[in-house]
Amino acid sequence: MDSTRPSSFSHLLHDRGVRFAVGLAVVVAIPVAVLFYFQFKSLDDIEETSSVVLRQLSRDTADSLTREIEESLKRPHIDLLLRPGQQARLNPPDFGWLDAVFGEGMAASEFIEELWYWSENADGYEDRFLVFDRASLQTQPSGDDGRFHESPTRHQQIVPKARALGAERRAIVAFPAEIDGRKKYVQLQLGFEGPNRERVTRLLGFMVDADELHTQYFPGVIERRLANVQQPIGFPPLDLYLTDGAGAPITMSGQPPASTVFVDERTFPLVFFDRELLEYAAPYEQSRETWRVRTSYGAQTISEIVTANTRPQMALMIVMALGMAGGVFFVASAAAREVRVAELKSNFVASVSHDLKTPLALIQLFAETLELGRVRNPDRAQEYYRIINTEARKLTRLIENILDFSRMEAGLRPYRPAPVDIGALTQQVLADMESQLNQGQFAVHTHVDPDLPPVNVDEDAVEQAIENLLANAMKYSGEARDIDVHVGRANSHVCVSVKDRGIGISRREQKRIFRKFYRVDRGLGGGPQGCGLGLAIVDHTMRGHGGFVRVDSEPEHGSTFTLHFPIPAGGDLNAGGALRTPGASAEGDRHETHPGDRGRTADVARSA
Ligand code: ADP
Repeated sequence: MDSTRPSSFSHLLHDRGVRFAVGLAVVVAIPVAVLFYFQFKSLDDIEETSSVVLRQLSRDTADSLTREIEESLKRPHIDLLLRPGQQARLNPPDFGWLDAVFGEGMAASEFIEELWYWSENADGYEDRFLVFDRASLQTQPSGDDGRFHESPTRHQQIVPKARALGAERRAIVAFPAEIDGRKKYVQLQLGFEGPNRERVTRLLGFMVDADELHTQYFPGVIERRLANVQQPIGFPPLDLYLTDGAGAPITMSGQPPASTVFVDERTFPLVFFDRELLEYAAPYEQSRETWRVRTSYGAQTISEIVTANTRPQMALMIVMALGMAGGVFFVASAAAREVRVAELKSNFVASVSHDLKTPLALIQLFAETLELGRVRNPDRAQEYYRIINTEARKLTRLIENILDFSRMEAGLRPYRPAPVDIGALTQQVLADMESQLNQGQFAVHTHVDPDLPPVNVDEDAVEQAIENLLANAMKYSGEARDIDVHVGRANSHVCVSVKDRGIGISRREQKRIFRKFYRVDRGLGGGPQGCGLGLAIVDHTMRGHGGFVRVDSEPEHGSTFTLHFPIPAGGDLNAGGALRTPGASAEGDRHETHPGDRGRTADVARSA
C-alpha cells in the first residue's frame, strides 16, 4: 500500500458532503438534544414531585388518623374519670354536676355504653353502684340521683374485680370482660383509703362494647377521615386499613389486602387513657391490644404509580426523539448526497472540457501537419491517420457516453434487443479499438469459448459497455500492458470479462465507482482523466438487459470487470421485443452475492 495516500479518516474530513452533513447534524441535533434533555428532566421532576405528594398525603393521613383515634379514646378518661376528682366533686359527690358532665361526655364519646359511680362510704350513697347509660340521655334528671340508676348486678360484676385489682395500688384499672354475654372493655379510676392505698373505697368508670367499637365507631372514624382527604387527581385514591390486635381487618376502604402494597403503618394501643399512663395502669400487659393503621394506593408502590403515570409521555418523547434523530439523519445524508453530486458535477464539467480538448487538439495538430504535406514518409503519415482516428473514436465515445447518460437519466434510452453472438461482438469491439490498443502498446489476450448461445441484447449499448471497460483497462493499467478478455459461460449467463493488471480499486471504492460522476480520488488531481460516467453507463446497460456487472479488484494488482448477460430460457430469443427496465429481476439469477455485483436489485439513480 502506498503510505502517502490519505487515510480514510482524513479522506472523510476532506469530503465536503460529509462535512456538510456533520455540520447540519450538529446544528440541528444539539438544540434538539438539549430540548429533549430538559423535557426528560422535567418528566423526572414531575415523577419526583408526584411521589413526594403521594408519600406526604399517606404519611399525614396515617398520622392524623392515629392521633385522632388516640385522642378520642382517651378523652372520656380525662374528662369524665379524672376531672371530677381534680375539681373536688366526689367528696362529697356532686351529683348535679356529675349528671351534667356525664351527659355531655357520653354524647361526645359515642363508643361509651355506660358510666359508673360507686363509693363505699360517700354520704347518702354508701355502697350504691350507680349507672349512667345511653338510655339516661333520653330521660330528664330527677331527684338526687339525676339520670343515674342503681344497678346491683353491675355492683356484683365490677366492685369485687375492682377491689381485687386495687391490690396493685394503681388508680387506673383497665381490663376486658365478658358482661351480659358480650365482650366489653372496662376502664376504672379507683379511689383508695389509707396512707398506702390499702383499700378501694370509690370508683368512677365506664364500659365500652367491643363489637360496637369495631363495627360502628372505627368504620365511622375512618369514613370521616377519608371524606376529609384531598385525594390526588390522576392517581389511585388513598385507602385506609385498620386491623385489631390479632391482625384481623376491622375496616378497609380498598381492595382486600392480599395484593395491596402498604405505604405507611402506625400502631396504637387499644386503651382508653393516655398511652403515657400505661405504666400506671393495672393490669395492662395481659390485655393490651396493639392496633394498626395502614395506608395504601392499591397494588402498586408509589414509584410504580408515578412511573406508570408518566410512561405515555415518556414513550411519546422517545418516539419523537427517535423520529427527529431519524429525520436529522435522513436530511443530513440527503443533503450530503446533493453536495457530493454537485461537487461531482463540477468535476465532471472540468473533466469533460479537458477530455474534449485533448483529442481535438491532437486531431487538429496531426490533420494540419498532414494537410501541409510535410509528412513524406508514408508510414509516418499512416501513423498520423491512425492517431487522428483513435482520438476521433475517443471523442465519439465521450460524446456518446454523455448523450447516452443524459438519455438514461431521463428514461429515454430505449434498448432494441436482438439475438447477438457476444463472442463475435467482443471481437468486433477489439478490432475497432485495435489502433488505440496498439498505440498504448497493450498486449490483449483474448479467449472466446466456442458454442456460446446467443443472447438478446441491444448491440450498440453492449458494444459501448465493452468499449468502456476496455478503455478503463487501458486508462488504469499504470505501467502494466497486459489485458485479458474472456468470453464464456457461467451458469445461466454469458459473461464478458476484461482483466487488467493495473492500479486496482480498494474494496470501499468498489461499491461507489458505478455511481454517476463518481471518480476515485487519486490525490491532488493526479491519475488519468475521465468524467465518471463510463461505469454508470455499463451498470445501467446491464440492468436494462436483466444482467449485472461484477468487479473483482485488488489495489496494485489489477481489476476484472465481468458483464453477465442472461441466456434466454429455452432459446426464447426475440428480435425487437422490449427489454427489462433497469432494476427488473431475471428469474433464476438470484445467487448474486458478490459485493462487486451490480444490477437488478437497485436503480441506477439510487446508486448516485
Ligand atoms: P472515468 O473513467 O471516466 O473516471 P468510470 O465511471 O469509467 O469513469 O470509472 C469510475 C472510476 O472507477 C474511475 O475514476 C476509476 O477510478 C475507477 N476505475 C474504473 N475502471 C478501473 C480499472 N480498470 N482499474 C482501476 N480503477 C478503475
